[in-house]
Amino acid sequence: MNTDIAKLLIKKEIKPSYQRIKILDYLVSNPNHPTVEQIYHDLVGEIPTLSKTTVYNSINLFIEAGIVQPINIEDHETRYDYNVTGHGHFKCIECGGIHDFQLESDAFATSHLNNYLIKEKNVYCKGICPICLENKNEKLKEVEQ
Ligand SMILES: [Zn+2]
Ligand SMILES: [Zn+2]
Repeated sequence: MNTDIAKLLIKKEIKPSYQRIKILDYLVSNPNHPTVEQIYHDLVGEIPTLSKTTVYNSINLFIEAGIVQPINIEDHETRYDYNVTGHGHFKCIECGGIHDFQLESDAFATSHLNNYLIKEKNVYCKGICPICLENKNEKLKEVEQ
């Protein structure tokens, strides 16, 4: 049992149930922005009583507490990130991988939204990651030869 995770949950006034600790621990140890499906799939072997609803509800508690942030680059999939500091996300359209990148100080100013209540601030980029670019170039070379 991860006591640090349990302490964090207690600090955030979330009851540290075994399943919640496991789910948060998973997010901490897997910074690859997993979906509910992935978290469920990887944990259900170890926790046979786990349900997707429990994963979903637990994550929503973490989001409300500000420990986890949702990533919605695509409409059809939500991924989750334990890293809630201001950073951007790059999604590779080839391999589907999501990579974090550091934002330059306050990359986009929101002074024009003074009268608005901002609940989320996201920077998303889409493109091709260096590994996939490399693969593409290799394939092009093969075709040329
Ligand atoms: Zn890629
Ligand atoms: Zn991230």
